[in-house]
Amino acid sequence: MHSDHSSPSAHRSELDIDEREDQVDPDFNPLTGIGVKLALASVVGMVILALVASVVFTRRLEASYREAGKAQLTSVAETWKQTFSIRVLETTPERVQRRLDAIREASPTLHKINVSWRGEDGKFRYVQSGHVHDTNGAKLDVTTETARVVSPGTKTPFQEGQKDYTEVQAADGAHYAELNEPVLRRGKTRAMLELHYDLKDLDIALARDKRTVLVASVLAAVTLWLFSLLFITRGLVQPLARLGAATRRLGSGDRGHRLGWKRRDEIGMLARDFDRMADQLDAAHEHLETLALTDPLTGLLNHRAFNERLEQELRRAERSPTNVSVVALDVDKFKEVNDAFGHAAGDESLRQLAEVMRRHLRPGDLCGRVGGDEFCLALVGATAAEAEQVIERLRQEIMQTEAGPSKTRFTISAGIAQFPVHGLGRDEILSFADGAMYWAKTSGRNRTCIYTADSAVAMSPEEQASRVAAQGLVNTVHALASAVDAKDGYTSLHSERVGLYAAALATRLGYVGDDVETIRTAGVLHDVGKIGISDSVLQKPGKLTAEEWDIMRRHSELGRDIINGAGMPAIAELVLHLHERYDGKGYPAGLAGEEIPLASRILHVADMLEAMTSSRVYRPRLSTQDALDELQRMRGTQIDPMVADAMIELVVSGQVIVPDQDSEPLPASA
Ligand code: GH3
Ligand code: MG
Repeated sequence: MHSDHSSPSAHRSELDIDEREDQVDPDFNPLTGIGVKLALASVVGMVILALVASVVFTRRLEASYREAGKAQLTSVAETWKQTFSIRVLETTPERVQRRLDAIREASPTLHKINVSWRGEDGKFRYVQSGHVHDTNGAKLDVTTETARVVSPGTKTPFQEGQKDYTEVQAADGAHYAELNEPVLRRGKTRAMLELHYDLKDLDIALARDKRTVLVASVLAAVTLWLFSLLFITRGLVQPLARLGAATRRLGSGDRGHRLGWKRRDEIGMLARDFDRMADQLDAAHEHLETLALTDPLTGLLNHRAFNERLEQELRRAERSPTNVSVVALDVDKFKEVNDAFGHAAGDESLRQLAEVMRRHLRPGDLCGRVGGDEFCLALVGATAAEAEQVIERLRQEIMQTEAGPSKTRFTISAGIAQFPVHGLGRDEILSFADGAMYWAKTSGRNRTCIYTADSAVAMSPEEQASRVAAQGLVNTVHALASAVDAKDGYTSLHSERVGLYAAALATRLGYVGDDVETIRTAGVLHDVGKIGISDSVLQKPGKLTAEEWDIMRRHSELGRDIINGAGMPAIAELVLHLHERYDGKGYPAGLAGEEIPLASRILHVADMLEAMTSSRVYRPRLSTQDALDELQRMRGTQIDPMVADAMIELVVSGQVIVPDQDSEPLPASA
């Protein structure tokens, strides 16, 4: 939509972005951060893991020790059974005893070995070989008993029968495994061996192994925890922090920043969502920016955007240094086409005219539509004279263009001011270009004017009006009036006197209070429109040409616009019609008689009397009497007879004093 010279550009402060990125969210507490929570959770997890692992491993260890003990005991029993002969039982108990001792000696971990059997007499016999423990659990001497006949009521292993491997924690501190193995002969149990296997060494080894398991579990858990910390930090906390930073950058206007992460997990998904969101924001922002900076009708820069871009261009030109020519451009009589063919046709014409303007610009130049039919251009690197050539070519082409559905050939008026020759400030340059454009308008339109100090006063009514509004009305009204007086070649108090005469006439004709003051102010302001008329026309000694009269007459409307813009529409209307004649031959509307507002008729007479009794460059002042005679002569033609009579009467009766000389101060209030 934009050509190079009018495309808006985004600009943002890098400083802002960095500051925002570094800012710590006051609601964020690192101690309650997700990293700390996950680290704590993983500590708990790892402690539980270490406990479970050590319990499981310990159990397995115990089981395997038990298996080992059992295997050892069983193998001893087997060995013994093979070497133990039943016939020994039938020898002496001492021999049985020796055999048991020999077996026990051969297996040092064998704590005790007993054998019991039923003798031929049917009584139970019992032989023991083993140890006892003292109260500290230390093994004492080998206790051997000769085989004895077990007294009735006491059970022997033989009677108790086969007993599989059982562990026993004895009251004397001994920890042993017990196995009752039958000794068979021809399928019958002839004796029962009771083997006690000492588990002390196994216990010590087990305890040592348990410690090892525990330490290994803790070490493994700590290592795992460190890995999980690394994972939490690298995989979660850091990416989240970077996502947060990216979000803050985006928030502070860095729309170009993207993460571009390739990871395939949720964080990666979040990052891609972020990138997509940033793309969309960027596009939406660009779109809004374009809308905010563009005139929707023509696609040119709007008023605000043009001013901003011009400011940038001027600052750049200042550094280079280079010239920038600013052109204010207004379509002539555009309203007529609008009125005749409708607003839509007017719009289409404006679009086409804008297109022609755009074609005449180089890349880097600016073009904006700053008002209804007002445009502003900035030709970068061009002097005013060069800009004039460009604008003249543009003017010629516009004259050749049949614009809009009405095929109207428009003309344009343009004013040029050159940076830095005419001014340095943007607003200054713009108002000079505007002033030059108004000068082109008042000099007959369809032309290009370069700003000169001469046309400095030819500012737009809007410009004048805003000054009046801005500076405080009362003082400004009077200052403006005396500036106009000076410009018009009057003595400084002409406008004040017109106000005075008008107020006196108004009172005489029945006005009271505020109405009188309104008419007085209108009198003071009646000539402000002349601020827009060239000195050469205003102060021309000879007769004005028809064209110059056209320019001259324009001051009524200019005055109306200035006063209107300053927020005084009632006064503006009175001033507009000041130059209407009673016989209808005046301007601007050609109203006659009672059609002319009475206050305007009053102002006309007041102005006429004061003008006649003031010297001008091209003629001396009339005497008061001559001026009154002239009023008398003009009653009914130029001026309202009733108002003329009232004026004459006021002067003749001395209620209004007309000074004898230009330099005389104002008479006291009438
Ligand atoms: P001048 O030669 O003194 O400039 O006469 P003009 O008729 O062009 O008067 P002026 O520039 O003061 O007024 C511009 C007119 O443009 C007023 C209004 O009718 C018309 N206008 C303003 N904005 C738009 C718009 O957006 N579209 C259309 N079609 N007309 C507009
Ligand atoms: Mg116009």
